[in-house]
Amino acid sequence: MSKNQGKLFVITGPSGVGKGTLVRSLLSAHSQLFVSISATTRQPRTGEVDGKDYYFLTTAQFESMIEEENLLEWAQYAGNYYGTPKQAVLEQINQGKTVILEIELLGARQVKENFAQSQLIFILPPSEEELERRLRGRGNDAEEAIKKRLARAKEEIAAQDEFDYKIVNDQLESAIAQLEDIIFGKQEVN
Ligand code: ADP
Ligand code: 5GP
Repeated sequence: MSKNQGKLFVITGPSGVGKGTLVRSLLSAHSQLFVSISATTRQPRTGEVDGKDYYFLTTAQFESMIEEENLLEWAQYAGNYYGTPKQAVLEQINQGKTVILEIELLGARQVKENFAQSQLIFILPPSEEELERRLRGRGNDAEEAIKKRLARAKEEIAAQDEFDYKIVNDQLESAIAQLEDIIFGKQEVN
C-alpha cells in the first residue's frame, strides 16, 4: 500500500440515532472529506435526491452490481439492499482523501475485514427511549419499517464493542466535536 493512501472511516449506529445529521454537518464544515453515496433498493423518502442521498436502484440493478463485484460491501437491511459502490471510494483513497462510509453493522464488518486501515465508529443514542422518539419524530417511515429498524437497533447496539470508537449522540455539538477529534486528530489533514 502506498504511503499516500487516504483514511477510511466507517460510521455505524441504529437507525434514527443521528448518523445522517452528524455526517451532513461534518461535510458542511470540512468539504475536503469524501462521503460515499450508497446504492439502495429502498424507495426514496420525500426530499431525497437520486445520486445525492443514494443511488436508487431496482433489485435487478443492485443484484447485477453484486455479480459484477462493483460493491465494496453490501447488506440487506429492513427488507432492502444497501451497498457501497467500490470505484469512487477506491479512487478517493488512492488520491489520499479521507473517506467516510455511513453504513450498517454487517457492512461495517465487511469493511473491517477487507481494509485493515479502516477505523470504525459507533454512534449510540442517549437511551432507547430517545432513539425511538427520534426515529418516530423524523416522521418518514411507515410503522412496519419503524418496527424493523427498532429490532435491528438492538442487534446493532449489542455489537458496539466491535468498534474502535463510540460516541453518544446526546448534544449534537458535542458529538460532532468528538467525531472531528477522531477523524482529524489534532492536526487537520486530508
Ligand atoms: P440516522 O441517519 O441515524 O437514521 P437522522 O440523522 O435521520 O438519523 O436523525 C434522526 C432524527 O433525530 C432527526 O429528526 C434528527 O434531526 C434528530 N437528531 C439527530 N441528532 C440529534 C441530537 N443530538 N439531539 C436531538 N435530535 C437529534
Ligand atoms: P436508511 O434507509 O435509514 O437510509 O438506512 C438504513 C440503514 O442502512 C442505515 O443503518 C444506514 O447506515 C445503512 N446503509 C446506508 N447505506 C449503506 C451501504 O452502502 N451499505 C450498508 N451495509 N449499509 C448502508
